[in-house]
Amino acid sequence: MKILIATGNEHKFKEITDILPRQTQTGEDIEYVSLANIGGLKLPPETGLTLAENAEIKAVYAAKETGLPTVSDDTGLEVEFLNGRPGVRTARYAGEHADADDNNRKLLSELEGLFLGKRAARFRTVACLATPQGKVINFEGELDGFIGFGYRGTNGFGYDPLFIVAGTRKTLAEMTEKEKNAISHRGKAFKQLAQYLQILQK
Ligand code: IMP
Repeated sequence: MKILIATGNEHKFKEITDILPRQTQTGEDIEYVSLANIGGLKLPPETGLTLAENAEIKAVYAAKETGLPTVSDDTGLEVEFLNGRPGVRTARYAGEHADADDNNRKLLSELEGLFLGKRAARFRTVACLATPQGKVINFEGELDGFIGFGYRGTNGFGYDPLFIVAGTRKTLAEMTEKEKNAISHRGKAFKQLAQYLQILQK
């Protein structure tokens, strides 16, 4: 069985496929391909109002276009004090062409003066599997934490240097990749998908 992972980002492709099974329980091999492997299909814009909608838009479109069962994901950072923002706008928080540093600085400025107890936040990932036959199923993973007062750590990407993981003193950027994957929102969503793929039949 061949499954498309709807990303052109090789780092993300590796992170995801490291979690997913190579075989179903009945012994059928599963091969994963990325958008780059199939000639670079362009995904539609993320116009959904929720993470689930955005994940579905991508997976459903790519499954239809390629005829392959397709996996996609969408992640958002939800800050309690900001009533769940930036949410679906996490990538574009500081503007359409914002980079991670722009987004992080905007977040720090919006929370300026608040003590740690008022800085609760949560990462949420929805992983979606869509089949060419029209079946759509979502899996969710969450990670609770707090937005710190400045950058700490150099690993990871995006909001990692600001995100202090609940129950630890570390930001995600102070964790190794292995430590992060074991607890992360994305890791949790894809571990559920992994279990589902094991029982999937043609
Ligand atoms: P995407 O849905 O994976 O493209 O992520 C949307 C936005 O969330 C991007 O701005 C990412 O930088 C940010 N993001 C996603 N996952 C993480 C994470 O694990 N750590 C920090 N930022 C993340």
